[in-house]
Amino acid sequence: MNEQAIRNIVIVGGGTAGWMAAAAFARVLGPACTIRLVESEEIGTVGVGEATVPHLKLFNNLLEIDETEFVRQTQGTFKLGIQFNDWGQVGDSYIHGFGELGHDLGLVPFHQCWVRARQLGFGGDLGDYSINTLAAPRGRFMASASDVPRNSPLANIAYAYHFDSGLYARFLRRYAEARGVRRTEGKVAQTRLRPDNGFVEAVVMESGEAIAGDLFVDCSGFRGLLIEQALHAGYEDWTHWLPCDRALAVGCEKVGPPTPYTRSTARPAGWQWRIPLQHRTGNGYVYSSAHVSDDEAAATLLANLDGKALGDPRPLRFTTGMRRKFWNRNVVALGLSSGFMEPLESTSIYLIQSGIAKLLNLFPRQGISPVLVDRYNEQSRFEFERIRDFLILHYHATRRDDTPFWNQCRTMDIPSSLKDNIALFRDSGRFFRNAEEMFAQVSWVQVMIGQGIVPQGCHPLADQIPPQELRAFMQHVQRVIADCVQAMPAHEAFIARYCAAPVPGAPMPA
Ligand SMILES: Cc1cc2nc3c(=O)[nH]c(=O)nc-3n(C[C@H](O)[C@H](O)[C@H](O)COP(=O)(O)OP(=O)(O)OC[C@H]3O[C@@H](n4cnc5c(N)ncnc54)[C@H](O)[C@@H]3O)c2cc1C
Repeated sequence: MNEQAIRNIVIVGGGTAGWMAAAAFARVLGPACTIRLVESEEIGTVGVGEATVPHLKLFNNLLEIDETEFVRQTQGTFKLGIQFNDWGQVGDSYIHGFGELGHDLGLVPFHQCWVRARQLGFGGDLGDYSINTLAAPRGRFMASASDVPRNSPLANIAYAYHFDSGLYARFLRRYAEARGVRRTEGKVAQTRLRPDNGFVEAVVMESGEAIAGDLFVDCSGFRGLLIEQALHAGYEDWTHWLPCDRALAVGCEKVGPPTPYTRSTARPAGWQWRIPLQHRTGNGYVYSSAHVSDDEAAATLLANLDGKALGDPRPLRFTTGMRRKFWNRNVVALGLSSGFMEPLESTSIYLIQSGIAKLLNLFPRQGISPVLVDRYNEQSRFEFERIRDFLILHYHATRRDDTPFWNQCRTMDIPSSLKDNIALFRDSGRFFRNAEEMFAQVSWVQVMIGQGIVPQGCHPLADQIPPQELRAFMQHVQRVIADCVQAMPAHEAFIARYCAAPVPGAPMPA
């Protein structure tokens, strides 16, 4: 137990993680703590991370951020889900849509009705029962309507955002500085530890200034300046399950209306993302360097852009895994310094948000005690591991056998927790969400079905629904959703009406 009350917080790093932390701490801890953030323009940020999950709305709500202003200032667009192309096998396509799937029948989850219907020879595509999945490829979007019945799918539309990561950090910086966060520009040259307990005492800047603090938040990116370089927390490497270790990122000119979804297309040795923004489209190829050369990867990426590339592809290297300790002594790692899992389901920014929420819930106001640290580390590990399993599912549940990369993914050994989930689902379409893991049943179900895992049986209660009744129910749900999608405006029209970004080059509001 370190009984020193926490008054001074030092955040090292001014990327998405650093500024999200600064903004949230300034909002929640207010004048009880002083908050300083150190960042180096020369080192810069990772410069990617532009697709999110719906949880970000909760973060914005906490900060009382106006959504239209936020989307406008970050060149943002809306995201109803992720389209996965060529994952199950070449030519396949499915969407992992956010939000509800159909309508549960009492105790029977909707997907069980669908499984039963398919066994009876009707039911169509699972995506026909999700408003998000149906609306996304049609380019339609709207936020939840308040003037429709509460049980209408239009009353509860789940969505996330795409945004320009640089503009997002700037947006949060303005927010945080307006609430008292003090920013110091420059490079940290050294970390000074207290001789008695090994806690970080201060970071020493190249200028010679020592910035002392009670709690340090390491947002320094992959290098893990405090958590690893100073405190040697250790790293658990998951490359054997998620073999991609490099990415190339490049923007391109947009050639049409922005799609209200992220696209992920499987490639010979990884996958390519496409993230539409108002002013450009973001693209990247995440790949395994053991299976494809950098030059080949760049050629594949550049050959598959919608429009003209805006520069050369930027290389990024990473090791998938997590820190053995996310919180060590008086240092908490957030963002890339805490671990990394590829952006297949846009989970990194969510993990930053979740880390901030956990830290605030367990905030060591009276001093850092092991019970707080242990609980934080336990929860973070749980969250990382559950997301890890979900990502592995995409790679492993494939019928692709066209390249060594896919053969390796298809035949590799997987964590037993995931093996059990797949077996249970294959047996009877059942899935049980584990405590507060990030992805809910509907997400797992859409990905399992999308990747070609077909349940052999179904829930006994679904079995008991008379076929005619089931058919009428399924048709009704499908019709309601199709009618709702018809009523939605085009995504581009929605943006133009509510949150069009300022013309590029025009000054940003102060
Ligand atoms: C290829 C790729 C694609 C991604 N796509 C997504 C996505 O779509 N969605 C998603 O949620 N996430 C995505 N991510 C993850 C996302 O980019 C990060 O989680 C997010 O940007 C947070 O990064 P960060 O702030 O931890 O690190 P960084 O952006 O690297 O920031 C590190 C900061 O630390 C500072 N710093 C470092 N060393 C020093 C020093 N010595 N002195 C002073 N300052 C220092 C730097 O200047 C910088 O300000 C992606 C990541 C990669 C690699």
